[in-house]
Amino acid sequence: MSLTRLLQPSWLASGTLAELPLEPFRRQGIRALVLDVDRTLLPRRQAQLPASVELWLQQAKAELHLHLFSNNPSRERIGSVARQLGVSFTTAAGKPRRSALRRVLADLQLPHDQVALVGDRLFTDVLAGNRMGLFTVLVKPVDGAGQPCQRDRLQATEVRLARWLGAELH
Ligand SMILES: [Mg+2]
Repeated sequence: MSLTRLLQPSWLASGTLAELPLEPFRRQGIRALVLDVDRTLLPRRQAQLPASVELWLQQAKAELHLHLFSNNPSRERIGSVARQLGVSFTTAAGKPRRSALRRVLADLQLPHDQVALVGDRLFTDVLAGNRMGLFTVLVKPVDGAGQPCQRDRLQATEVRLARWLGAELH
């Protein structure tokens, strides 16, 4: 698969995770969500989920299997977020490398097209998910109040670079 295709999210969301409707996941036959943590669920230096994000996760958890999948090495911090939700987690995931994601997918025992990877970064989250044939969702980074982050220069830069490489991100 070309790099351009690998950088193309299946779903380019206009808002944060907390603003995603669940219906498109149902329509796609998605049964599990692999979720990035930092700036997808909460700001990097926070341990408490914003209320809107927690509510969304509880609703999603009622119908989908959830797994937190973070490049962050802190088992203490990512583990505490996972415990708040009662879900499994991976730290030091090494996205966009595939090895840790392969282990998660092996545990899930689902066809890859029934698993969605949701994150705020194109060159780690979306790239890793696309390399494994998952349904990939790029969301806006979230701030501590559960709102879209005002300073998301990193995502903006990645989107510009991906467009320059030929990805269609509108
Ligand atoms: Mg992130």
